[in-house]
Amino acid sequence: MSLDSKNPETIVLHAGHRADPTTGAVAVPIYQTTSYQFQHTEHAANLFALKELGNIYSRIMNPTCDALEQRVAALEGGAAALALASGQAASAFAVQNLARAGDNIVSSTDLYGGTWNLFANTLKDQGIEVRFVDPEDPQAFANATDDRTRAYYAETLPNPKLKVFPIAEVAEIGRGFGIPLIMDNTAAPIICKPFEHGAAVIVYSATKYIGGHGTSIGGLLVDGGNFDWEAHKERQPALNTPDPSYHGAVWAEAVKPLGPIAYILKARVTLLRDLGAAMSPFNAFQFLQGLETLPLRMRAHSENAAKVADYLKGHDKVDKVIFPGLQDGEARRRADAHLKGGYSGLLGFEIKGDKDAGAKFINALELFYHVANIGDARSLAIHPATTTHSQLTPEEQTASGVSDSYVRLSIGIEHIDDILADLEQALAKA
Ligand code: PLP
Repeated sequence: MSLDSKNPETIVLHAGHRADPTTGAVAVPIYQTTSYQFQHTEHAANLFALKELGNIYSRIMNPTCDALEQRVAALEGGAAALALASGQAASAFAVQNLARAGDNIVSSTDLYGGTWNLFANTLKDQGIEVRFVDPEDPQAFANATDDRTRAYYAETLPNPKLKVFPIAEVAEIGRGFGIPLIMDNTAAPIICKPFEHGAAVIVYSATKYIGGHGTSIGGLLVDGGNFDWEAHKERQPALNTPDPSYHGAVWAEAVKPLGPIAYILKARVTLLRDLGAAMSPFNAFQFLQGLETLPLRMRAHSENAAKVADYLKGHDKVDKVIFPGLQDGEARRRADAHLKGGYSGLLGFEIKGDKDAGAKFINALELFYHVANIGDARSLAIHPATTTHSQLTPEEQTASGVSDSYVRLSIGIEHIDDILADLEQALAKA
């Protein structure tokens, strides 16, 4: 059955697995195995030489992970995907797959703190420079580009500002230079399809909305199969020069017979082989369960968050509500151009009162969990100034959109009346 013309609600239930070939099991089995029996020595040799694709060892591939990878690739309209141990591993691999010591990438400043640290410190220590630019101005990406720039990087819906990134504009600028745009779409699965706007690679922390139930850490890389690496030999040497770790393979050429999957195959058979950040089959199973209801949940998260935004907007203890659906001007245009069917479940607000009002509000919440996470089926809240952003200077906090009175909410899928009742009673105590 071809799923090409099917809708997301159908793809998440059927892509990548219909029934187990040996047992007929309909749910994807957890293949809890490290290794796989080869048919004969020629079969083994072919697998190692990538003449045939198949299972060798679970650090680099596993049938449960494979079902998840195929399902997510189909959902995004991409060529192939790679499951990894965490979103952090996915962000690191996304860049390391293209940039070597001495190279650089250009990234939006509006990033998850963990990605910021990875880029500003760990990749820097590895000799990869990350040039941060303000996403308000797409042209800033072009201005920061030089001959050693290998990729552009951004988040679709970065918090706390919650201003949608100009994916189409920056992807187009990048393609002019032979530079792929890597989009972290963690906060907006289903409602944003980065490949449709020209992105070449998608990063996910599956830990958030894809898993959806707060049980497992995991990450995904998706290859759009829509970037012509061979046409940019000088710009993209990692895929166009012989790789000594694989008998001198030139990935863009060698992988051609297998489809437009040079980027993701290289990530699997070099970075995942060498660095070993593999997703466990059990976690892949958990993410498959999450995926099955992802379209339903994103709808419910988005509807609830829009109602919370409306409620807070009219509340006398609230100064300002930060939510894409309440933005105007260019921010709103970008949101509406890139998000379809909702604005996701994240929102922020500035609470009136003294410096402690935010903390008092959080401490008074009964239904909402006070955690450093987003994208759970349950409603979550945090006060960034005293937690996630506490290491920043006051100036850095302001630049990143965090004030003392800022509260971040990740709205869950509980009944909206119960969500609003909890907010009401906590605001009364703030
Ligand atoms: N990207 C975004 C947007 C995130 O919010 C997070 C985690 O909060 C990550 C990446 C990292 O993901 P993980 O925690 O799965 O490593």
